[in-house]
Amino acid sequence: MTAQIIDGKALAEELRQSFKARVEALAAKGHRPGLVVILVGEDPASEVYVRNKVNGCLAIGMHSEKITYDAAVDQTTVLKKIAELNADPNIHGILVQLPLPKHFDEEAVLEAIAAEKDVDGFHAENVGALAQGNPRFIPCTPYGVMKMFEKGNVDLTGQEAVVIGRSNIVGKPMALLLINAGATVTVCNSRTKDLLAHTRRADILVAAVGKPRFVTADMVKPGAVVIDVGINRLPDGKLCGDVDFDGCKEVAGQITPVPGGVGPMTITMLLANTIEAAERKAGL
Ligand code: NAP
Repeated sequence: MTAQIIDGKALAEELRQSFKARVEALAAKGHRPGLVVILVGEDPASEVYVRNKVNGCLAIGMHSEKITYDAAVDQTTVLKKIAELNADPNIHGILVQLPLPKHFDEEAVLEAIAAEKDVDGFHAENVGALAQGNPRFIPCTPYGVMKMFEKGNVDLTGQEAVVIGRSNIVGKPMALLLINAGATVTVCNSRTKDLLAHTRRADILVAAVGKPRFVTADMVKPGAVVIDVGINRLPDGKLCGDVDFDGCKEVAGQITPVPGGVGPMTITMLLANTIEAAERKAGL
């Protein structure tokens, strides 16, 4: 059996096209959605991510700008800028690219963003709302995964879902979304005793580990939906996921590739969150 591929690239493109009309409707009422991305330091990977976020906005008619700081900037300067942006009526979304340099208190910076402009969904108030099943902003990567389930007609109710990874940006919010959708959820981490026993009974398996080809075919239940969140750079420069795609596609029922799977969905859902923020502000 060869699994059906859930094509994140195609879905991302379809969604971005559909966003254009919403952006124009908002702009016509004087609320063109605006996103500011703050980048501290010169990490090359972060620079690429930030450029893609800004360009993604501009391509669908949104306003977007990047604010960059030298790695040595003090936290107070960045907090002052966030306060200014919180008060700016033309800005609907504020995102601070992580990771921040070591002298920053990451939590304090994320909490400084007004909760109604926190389009990454990392503010404690928004995390709490998600945990209560009443989300305001869903963190972009797991939000993208939920859209992929929708596209693949995956009914999550009553399904055994296993998430490998418990990070604040992927694993935990993913687990909360699956719980809210009615799945029975297990979250595994590096100390999980018998990982295989968990993954083998998963109808839905989400890998957010950060280790190339960590999930192998023997770990997958036949017919399972396998979502690969991982983005790993191999020594030859190629990208690969946390799932051994070639092996697992022979066992799974549906599977996401890397590249072209969850990756393109993440920025797409950032656009979605910023548009939603602007729609809320416009009273739509
Ligand atoms: P992270 O913060 O490093 O978390 C990795 C998680 O995997 C941790 O909870 C860790 O457990 C767990 N883990 C590590 N080894 C394990 C093992 N042997 N068995 C079970 N669990 C294990 O990473 P992240 O930020 O969640 O990202 C995960 C992957 O997704 C990375 O490849 C990242 O690049 C990618 N990512 C992709 C997107 C996208 O847009 N597609 C967005 C974000 C991240 P402990 O907590 O016990 O250490």
